[in-house]
Amino acid sequence: MKLTVIGTGYVGLVSGVCFALSGHHVICVDKDEEKIKKLKQMESPIYEPGIEELIELNLREERLSFSADLQDSVRHSDIIILAVGTPSLPNGEADLTYIEGAAAEIAKAMEGHKIIMTKSTVPVGTNEKISKILAKFTHHSFDIVSAPEFLREGSAIRDTLHPDRIVIGLDNPELEPTMRELHKGFTENVFVTDIRSAEMIKYASNAFLATKISFINEIANICEKVGADVTEVAQGMGMDQRIGSSFLQAGIGYGGSCFPKDTNALIQIAGNVDYEFKLLKSVVEVNKGQRFMIISKLHESLGSLRGSTIGIWGLAFKPNTDDVREAPAREIVEALVAEGATVKLYDPIAATNFRQQYDHPQLRWCNLPEEAAEGSDAVCLLTDWSLLKDIDLHQLAKSMRNGVLIDGRNVYSKEQIEGTGLVYHSVGRPQMG
Ligand code: NAD
Repeated sequence: MKLTVIGTGYVGLVSGVCFALSGHHVICVDKDEEKIKKLKQMESPIYEPGIEELIELNLREERLSFSADLQDSVRHSDIIILAVGTPSLPNGEADLTYIEGAAAEIAKAMEGHKIIMTKSTVPVGTNEKISKILAKFTHHSFDIVSAPEFLREGSAIRDTLHPDRIVIGLDNPELEPTMRELHKGFTENVFVTDIRSAEMIKYASNAFLATKISFINEIANICEKVGADVTEVAQGMGMDQRIGSSFLQAGIGYGGSCFPKDTNALIQIAGNVDYEFKLLKSVVEVNKGQRFMIISKLHESLGSLRGSTIGIWGLAFKPNTDDVREAPAREIVEALVAEGATVKLYDPIAATNFRQQYDHPQLRWCNLPEEAAEGSDAVCLLTDWSLLKDIDLHQLAKSMRNGVLIDGRNVYSKEQIEGTGLVYHSVGRPQMG
């Protein structure tokens, strides 16, 4: 099939590359000409493990191309996939500017029938809006499909090639065979439903996962007060198949470009139909507070932070991505700066993105985790990059001024900490040292 994917971000680029890999002819379009220039040189504008190898392979086999010309690309394709951003407006609602803009551009380019498939996360009713925009600008016929995306940054290629399920929302049942054909080879688990339900499945899924995270974080906070260990509790809970073990890792809470924006958008979607989503509001509140346990634990160990030096390990909202959107690190670092600390920052991939968004004279940028720790009063681990698991903790304790380690992701075991001399705080587990 001939496809155009609009938007070469985390979703659009990965989807385009994976559709090309499965044999379709794909044009990936972005209005950001810098991104297109890089992609033509086989350089990915985002960090995603394995993406550059697949770009190169698909370019060589001539199934993939990149363009900044949306209208020309649309003319050469049968299916147009919308993968543009839907960021939050200040009131929490999804900003549909990019979706609406792209829909108008598609319509103006149409010279015959097209299928428009929305992968972006959009509020219930948005695909109907897209339909109206198209009808306003073209007299050609079209079909609309909602195909929300569930990939996770960091494992986006595997998630796309082997998803748990593909959700397809459509109003015209005749499209079903085409949609199954398009996704052939990815999974047999294609769930076909109506458009509004498909749109809702995406929000409900993210809201549920966010709820699991805030739930286990509250259990962790209680564990600390009653002397239980949340990792044991989560393991015991997760063995129950009705609960499942995923998304039960206590920590400093979720971030990223999806959970914060999608939970807020769902609260707004509910509010717009006079329904107060009380449970989800609490999930968001708990998450906002959870990151500041880092600051309370620093106070517990060091008292005032004025004049102290704090090392930070990890700035990305999770490992294996350079994405710092809504990362807990941002508010934690800002709070440390406000309290008068000097902050030494390390992240293997995301430091450049973080620095573009936030810099300050009290920040020191480090190339190695050991460098961020040296001479510091405390080190706070905020992202569980796997290389941090292998740090020599005995050496770490020796190199610091005050050996306080605040592990915001419960990376280290009791055995690893024992005998190091570190004062070790984690989340929902007993303090050591
Ligand atoms: P992103 O911000 O990384 O990329 C969006 C891209 O669209 C940008 O490169 C932008 O330049 C481009 N764009 C915007 N308007 C355009 C236009 N008119 N023509 C051409 N290009 C245009 O976004 P993302 O993280 O890939 O997310 C895209 C959508 O997918 C969002 O709705 C998001 O909620 C959803 N989603 C994201 C993830 C994720 O992990 N990032 C997972 C599932 C779903």
